[in-house]
Amino acid sequence: MKGKLFILSGPSGAGKGTVCKRLLQEMPQLVLSISMTTRSPRADEKEGISYFFTDKENFLKTKQEDGFLECAQHFDNYYGTPKKFVLDNINEGKNVILEIEPVGALQVKEKMPESVLIFLTVPKKSDLIDRLRSRGSETEETIKKRMAKAEIELSQMEKYDYVVVNDEIENAVNKIKEIIGRI
Ligand code: 5GP
Repeated sequence: MKGKLFILSGPSGAGKGTVCKRLLQEMPQLVLSISMTTRSPRADEKEGISYFFTDKENFLKTKQEDGFLECAQHFDNYYGTPKKFVLDNINEGKNVILEIEPVGALQVKEKMPESVLIFLTVPKKSDLIDRLRSRGSETEETIKKRMAKAEIELSQMEKYDYVVVNDEIENAVNKIKEIIGRI
């Protein structure tokens, strides 16, 4: 039997990364797809674990060769999901999870309607601003840009199979575990 594809998406600052890490710890049978990106690695990030870091030229070449299941530009950088890894694991019966932004998430849903789209959001919009500020790495200018993008993303929530409110990390993780376990 084929595995299932789960897509965890939602606006910047909703806590996708933290929730995804917890899910992987608590569901060791779940396989994470490692994305390719043109953004520079942060201090704690490792090649092939956090991302496959590359330059724009190689990214666009991979795209041209149909190597991505989806890809999107997120502010100044490109991000893409390597297609082969995802399809191979699903064909081997494994459940795969993507942690990606909404433009890419909706592309996957269109190509693979059987995939399960989960939108992670926050109780109120101001929580997004608070979380972006608490990262300490964002300027007021980038926070403004991220909030403008978040407005569009929040308006597309109804296209998702499930909406999970990240009020408390524990609750959000448990709800997503229940969704994954149910399917
Ligand atoms: P960051 O640069 O903070 O790691 O990620 C920025 C955004 O890109 C996050 O919303 C993250 O979920 C998203 N992202 C990471 N990998 C991919 C990918 O392969 N495709 C798409 N569309 N978005 C991605």
